[in-house]
Amino acid sequence: MLPFKLIYDHRYDLNLGDHVFPSQKYRLVHEELLKRGIADSKDFLSPAPASDEDVLRVHRSDYVRKLKTGSLSYAELQQLEVPYSEELIEACWLAAGGSILAGRRALIDGWSANIGGGFHHACPDHGEGFCVLHDVAIAIRRLQFDKAIERAMVIDTDVHHGNGTATIFAKDENVFTLSIHQLHNYPFIKPPSTIDINLPDGVEDEGYLAVLEEHLQKAFSAFSPQIIFYVAGADPYREDQLGGLALTMEGLARRDALVMNYARKNKSPLVITLAGGYARRVQDTVAIHLGTILAARDAAGKRAAGR
Ligand SMILES: [Zn+2]
Repeated sequence: MLPFKLIYDHRYDLNLGDHVFPSQKYRLVHEELLKRGIADSKDFLSPAPASDEDVLRVHRSDYVRKLKTGSLSYAELQQLEVPYSEELIEACWLAAGGSILAGRRALIDGWSANIGGGFHHACPDHGEGFCVLHDVAIAIRRLQFDKAIERAMVIDTDVHHGNGTATIFAKDENVFTLSIHQLHNYPFIKPPSTIDINLPDGVEDEGYLAVLEEHLQKAFSAFSPQIIFYVAGADPYREDQLGGLALTMEGLARRDALVMNYARKNKSPLVITLAGGYARRVQDTVAIHLGTILAARDAAGKRAAGR
């Protein structure tokens, strides 16, 4: 039904219960895609977990060992801000495998989406802010290792700065990182991305879209990616509990269309990862994520039509 694959596994749901991170959203996005007839079951692929070798291309071995043996310190657990469990670890390795698979599929079909992932705060030696493993970096390193790509771009529109992404790729000229985020928000230390767009509080649709477009233009004139990973956070939404920007649903849909349009015009495969989303009503977060999938469907249609 869809012209590209969606990567999903029911174990992405961390069953965190009454937590500000609605990890049931992965299951809800999957359900809604089927219920609304946007996708059918054949559009979904289930990932294998990333291998430890894949994870170790990004993360330090002592951190990985602590994750696997449940021996993180109290301070390290606090910094994660999600409760540690074996299921959490399984879900993180799966999400990383999901982004690898999504990357491979995008290289075949032009587009793909991991109905999970986008854990952009994870750093080589620690996890933080609900992010344990940096699935996108793990996927980029694996695709480079396989010689499937050399150059990748990360476009991060989550309301929070992509500090893990910036740290991991700081000295890597083959990975261009762009983050558009609210300045006065987590994380408070923001290591530089290739392009950082620091927004003041309360930015609305028109202001956001204009500045994003201006910087996308700069990014694509400076760099020609062989794949784009789109960290498509739903949290710039005006009703988000952890965000302080003021985008509407329509504005977020236009944001997605803008990013997809740049991918299409530059003939670059694009991988969607969902990233954050903490709207007061979880249905809103789900609707924003569905909108991102629909924007990719539209762009895929235009690309197929040679436009
Ligand atoms: Zn976020």
